[in-house]
Amino acid sequence: DSEASGDTGSRIMVFVRLRPMGKKEEAGSRRCVRIANRRDVYLTEFASETDYLRLKRVRGRHFCFDAAFPESTSQQEVYLTTTTELVEGVLRGRNGTVFCYGATGAGKTYTMLGTLENPGVMVLAIKDLFSKIRQRSFNGSYSLLLSYLEVYNETVRDLLSPGRPLVLREDKQGTIAAGLTQYRAYSTDEVMQLLQQGNRNRTTEPTRVNETSSRSHAILQIITEYQVKDSLNVVTRVGKLSLIDLAGSERALATDLRTQRSIEGANINRSLLALSSCINALVEGKRHIPYRNSKLTQLLKDSLGGPCNTVMIANISPGHFSFSETQNTLHWADRAKEI
Ligand code: ADP
Ligand code: MG
Repeated sequence: DSEASGDTGSRIMVFVRLRPMGKKEEAGSRRCVRIANRRDVYLTEFASETDYLRLKRVRGRHFCFDAAFPESTSQQEVYLTTTTELVEGVLRGRNGTVFCYGATGAGKTYTMLGTLENPGVMVLAIKDLFSKIRQRSFNGSYSLLLSYLEVYNETVRDLLSPGRPLVLREDKQGTIAAGLTQYRAYSTDEVMQLLQQGNRNRTTEPTRVNETSSRSHAILQIITEYQVKDSLNVVTRVGKLSLIDLAGSERALATDLRTQRSIEGANINRSLLALSSCINALVEGKRHIPYRNSKLTQLLKDSLGGPCNTVMIANISPGHFSFSETQNTLHWADRAKEI
């Protein structure tokens, strides 16, 4: 259990997950993405003609990531490849963060939360934490505290106990959302229901009452604490894992890439842009990382850059109707890789 030398700097692992074609898409959409060797992503552009049967392949592009998951990949495999290592780090006291990034409909919520039959990263991580902590805890006492919150329109809300917006406060440990519920979990079984209810508490678009707003970020934070015996002493280990289902990237990307200015003005998602800026600053090795520019980055101050592990899962759709969103997502992910 030695602290490896690579345990100090920050590093982002970048993964891509391609979701399967939906039933409706299958009829009219050509595939524009192909994954090979579990890490290569090939994107094909078609010339737009009205008759799709005559679509011509015009350009291709190749990307390579830490891993790329084809449509058939199971939730379990996605979890094992992307997140188990972070869980190990958290148990050694090193914070970890997993983001799902991508356009609306690309599979972020499926990857993070999943369904009862196919639970996603959030549930699988909690399950893994429980079993590992139980094995390692020296005296059998441990705690696993869950907080689930939303950033919508630069307002922070508690998804486990909806009510008034929460105020963020900075302290030495990081940023704290005052009054946020910390739910003490005892078993994995109760957690899925809790998280699904939390997800239903996310803000919905006024025009589409039952659909989660594509502009809402959901953040699950899991704080673990347990005791280990290291030769002579009993040591308490505390760690934090943040699992984040980001807002849809489609509107945030309506920006001029050179100036980072929004083209649509009012429609930008400030938190998503601020996250991009922080990642850019980390890529460029800047000393000042602009965490204070949004609620999301303030909340993630101790979990992005610095001594922590970060994983990015870029979710993409297979069809050519999503070509430009897929291209944007892959470019963004490709850039994040450089950290
Ligand atoms: P997002 O949260 O990015 O908007 P969702 O996770 O809601 O997207 O996915 C859109 C739709 O596609 C949902 O109906 C979801 O169940 C389905 N879906 C996404 N990814 C997968 C997958 N890997 N396997 C099966 N169905 C998926
Ligand atoms: Mg979603």
